[in-house]
Amino acid sequence: MKKRFILTFPAGRTNNPITYDLIKKYNIKINIIKANIGAEEEGSLLLEMIAEESDLNNAQEYLKENNINCQSVEKRVQFIENECMHCGACTAVCFAGALTLGKDDWKLSFDATKCIVCELCVKACPLGLFEIHFSE
Ligand code: SF4
Ligand code: SF4
Repeated sequence: MKKRFILTFPAGRTNNPITYDLIKKYNIKINIIKANIGAEEEGSLLLEMIAEESDLNNAQEYLKENNINCQSVEKRVQFIENECMHCGACTAVCFAGALTLGKDDWKLSFDATKCIVCELCVKACPLGLFEIHFSE
């Protein structure tokens, strides 16, 4: 199975070989989608993990034991595109780069494949054009 997770590392834990352990110990294929990690600071990693369900469950236990928060990304953002006035306010908060303004037409594009469902755009849009939907 394939699932996305956001791992949040407390300060001082970012030097540990966590992704190496996930691959070697739990037989997980990892696709790093986004990394925000600095030495001795809190860091975050958006990962796609591909593995058997039992290995994924064991890996989540391992992360918990190592004090690393592991949040499953199963929510999704619904964008009400036809009401957008392309002001760009939401792009300023979109760390993942899912919301961008076109260089030529200055129109907003939403790339759902880059969205990490951080929900920052929900508050940022003055028209309330982002909604969070949950999937099983
Ligand atoms: S939830 Fe909104 S701000 Fe966060 S990554 Fe997705 S589109 Fe960007
Ligand atoms: S903040 Fe809202 S209105 Fe402005 S560009 Fe983003 S979605 Fe469109």
